[in-house]
Amino acid sequence: MIDPWISSSVDYDKLVNKFGIQKISDMIEDIKNPQKLIRRGVVFGHRDFDEINKNINSNEDFAVVTGMMPSGQMHIGHKMIVDQLKWYQDKGAMLSLPIADMESYAARGVSFEKARQIAVDEYLTNFIALGLDLLKDNVNVYLQSSNDDLHDLAFKVSKKTNFNQLNSIYGFTKSTNIAHLQAPLVQVADILIPQIEEFGGPKKVVVPVGVDQDPHLRLTRDIASKFSDEWGFIAPASTYHRFLTGLSGGKMSSSKPSSAIYLNDDSRSAIEKVKSVKTGGRESLKEQRELGGEVDKCVVYELFVYHLVDDDDELERIRLQCLDGELSCGDCKERACGLVEEFFDELSDKQEEAHEIAVNLI
Ligand code: SF4
Repeated sequence: MIDPWISSSVDYDKLVNKFGIQKISDMIEDIKNPQKLIRRGVVFGHRDFDEINKNINSNEDFAVVTGMMPSGQMHIGHKMIVDQLKWYQDKGAMLSLPIADMESYAARGVSFEKARQIAVDEYLTNFIALGLDLLKDNVNVYLQSSNDDLHDLAFKVSKKTNFNQLNSIYGFTKSTNIAHLQAPLVQVADILIPQIEEFGGPKKVVVPVGVDQDPHLRLTRDIASKFSDEWGFIAPASTYHRFLTGLSGGKMSSSKPSSAIYLNDDSRSAIEKVKSVKTGGRESLKEQRELGGEVDKCVVYELFVYHLVDDDDELERIRLQCLDGELSCGDCKERACGLVEEFFDELSDKQEEAHEIAVNLI
């Protein structure tokens, strides 16, 4: 079972085999100018993304949904979603961005007022500062708690499931509070809402998520198929990305401050955090020269892959030089710190203006 509310370490191959997620590498040749994270296998799996790709290639309408649960700070791992949204926005997609304040209240006890503030200060501000255009006509940002269409849809979709199904997907128990039980149904409605009449009716939708969110997708696809005759709903497609490793190992998580580089950190604190991350370096420089570094265990290299190095050839050079023992971890970290400084300085220059836009969005 994958639990969307609890961080866990993940065996990606097992997920592909056990839950029927398709490998995106099998269709990479069909994707025109694939986004960096897709090219590099960080986005490793999908369901029905080939259907979305057909629409991208023929300039036909489709929508992207990605929710944000405002319960903590936005960290650099969340940037992966923004990078994917930018790519989809360039392809002409409608963006539907629910702010999951109801889920945040149900699962973490965060009040609606606090959730709105977190959504504006952390998520929307950084979404805009990172280059998303949230003022476009085909962008729909909303708070779950303030969206009547969503509440109607969540009520209706709940008729197509039952406690046994929710229990088998999420592992709810007799003591699970009812709000927590309702939260997945509100998320189902979040994913299906771009297909209601107000937004032009049934259409293909893709949801880019971390693989821990797959239970919501499985539930939504099942419910959508039960409404296919009545309302013409199309089961949503999804893509799955790997998690960014936290500074102290495991998954980078907002709820574990020691694991995360937050987007609202200033460049100096971000650099200090990068200095502390685990590398794939050997015990001594001599050993490193002889054996090479363990690049696939290195969080610095992961930061290069996910965020800091855009040029694929340059990334490959770093990889080979590491494996050949030509790089020292000290030099590598220094380079990462320089790139992090540049990134955070640029981001903070844009955050003030972005916040002024964000505060008026919801
Ligand atoms: Fe990581 Fe660089 Fe050390 Fe290789 S040389 S293990 S990439 S820090």
